[in-house]
Amino acid sequence: MGDALPFFGNIIDGVEVEAVDGARMQSVDPYTREPWAEVPLGGQADAQLAIAAARRAFDEGEWPRMGFEKRHAILHRWAALMIEHTDELAMADARDMGKPLAQARHDVARSAWNVRFFADHALVTPAETYPMDSGHHAYSRFDPAGVVTAITPWNFPLMMASWKVSPALAWGNTVVLKPAEDTPTSAVIWARLALEAGMPAGVLNVVHGLGPDSTGQALTESPDVDRITFTGESGTGKIISKAAAGNLIPVSLELGGKGANVVFADADLDNAVSWSIQAIFRNAGQVCLAGSRLYVQREIYNEFLDRFVAAAEAMKLGDPKVEGTEFSVLASKEHFDKVSGYLDTVELDGGKILTGGLGEGWQVRPTVIVNAPADARVCREEIFGPVVVVHPSDTEDEVVALANDTRYVLNAMLFTENLSRAHRVAAKLKAGTVWVNCFFIRDLRAPFGGVGDSGVGREGGSFSREFFTEPKAVVMQISKD
Ligand code: ADP
Repeated sequence: MGDALPFFGNIIDGVEVEAVDGARMQSVDPYTREPWAEVPLGGQADAQLAIAAARRAFDEGEWPRMGFEKRHAILHRWAALMIEHTDELAMADARDMGKPLAQARHDVARSAWNVRFFADHALVTPAETYPMDSGHHAYSRFDPAGVVTAITPWNFPLMMASWKVSPALAWGNTVVLKPAEDTPTSAVIWARLALEAGMPAGVLNVVHGLGPDSTGQALTESPDVDRITFTGESGTGKIISKAAAGNLIPVSLELGGKGANVVFADADLDNAVSWSIQAIFRNAGQVCLAGSRLYVQREIYNEFLDRFVAAAEAMKLGDPKVEGTEFSVLASKEHFDKVSGYLDTVELDGGKILTGGLGEGWQVRPTVIVNAPADARVCREEIFGPVVVVHPSDTEDEVVALANDTRYVLNAMLFTENLSRAHRVAAKLKAGTVWVNCFFIRDLRAPFGGVGDSGVGREGGSFSREFFTEPKAVVMQISKD
């Protein structure tokens, strides 16, 4: 039976291969609940082969040495091929995780933009020079760090991979990418396109497998790796951080979130409702940035809630592969069990489900909860699903305190038409990113990341350069006087 399914191999040293021991695993389409593709079930040996290929490509290959312009040309050819293969890439993510096709296509466009942006950024970013009064001249070089391990989650498979891999490659590193086991296929298509674009063998390697005692663990514990960039759960981030400490290498961690979304009475209500819906129900809420705690000022609470619930109920639910579907199923049975488990706690903890609940198959419909006390599990823990808790709020100081009362410090949203309030509250919110009157808009030059249970470090523009390079100071004597 398995032979009938399309196969997406490991890509090691430019060749698409089976796992060393021939083992395979299946990717299940969460909408049909049937396997649709097979990939290698890699292990430690596969990870070691991939690291060795990346090491050779870095230590002896042309990629770190070819210069920014040649790399830029290859990266741009790659981005163009991604756009040409939009449907294939988007369908891979749609089938692997139930992402509606329109959103998956949007992710492909943003992923191609990641590749182009970081290629351009590396090309035009100047090194720093420091003329010195002492008759010396100092300058910085930003040399590639070496071999990068990139471990990515299943919620934005291609987009997260491109967000990490693009700056690493643009700065001249080589990479081993491990996609999440639930969403393995788009990374393979992407790596095939890299070879077609002229990227040398061994520069981008892809290995499939699991985390503990598998490829994930091997890729984070290897002494031949120079950087680890990871996006995933906070608990996994702590394990990976320990592994990185074992080799004293820098690690960048983008972890969970419990984003506050603060709507003031002077907000543009249409705009606030529409972005607040996006903030929690886009990608079925499987977004670390989701606005899962919604605080609405009391004067407009009832009107906002009526409109918000109506918009949630109007979403077009269905097959992710059908045009027009806005909302589908959760990414896996395991994740469906986790999210639906939270729904069971709502009434026990004193809250009420206003709309939503279980849908067909592995679906949790857009769910709105009210009356939940601040210590309810749905208010404190990251659900990572289409579940929002709405609270009325009164003063600015009170809502800032409520918004900041979380272990996750990743992002927040605020809606107001009052310019001074927008800046004042944005400054007070504990967050790596604050969106004012919008959500999810990114400028790739800006820092992205969080602290607390949300991670360590920032990526984006020159923040990615800091992480993926070894800065070196060169000090020259230019005058002997
Ligand atoms: P989820 O399973 O919800 O996607 P995880 O944080 O567990 O969230 O997984 C994100 C990525 O981290 C996946 O690619 C997974 O295989 C990988 N992973 C999980 N555990 C480990 C580990 N101990 N070491 C390295 N990678 C891991």
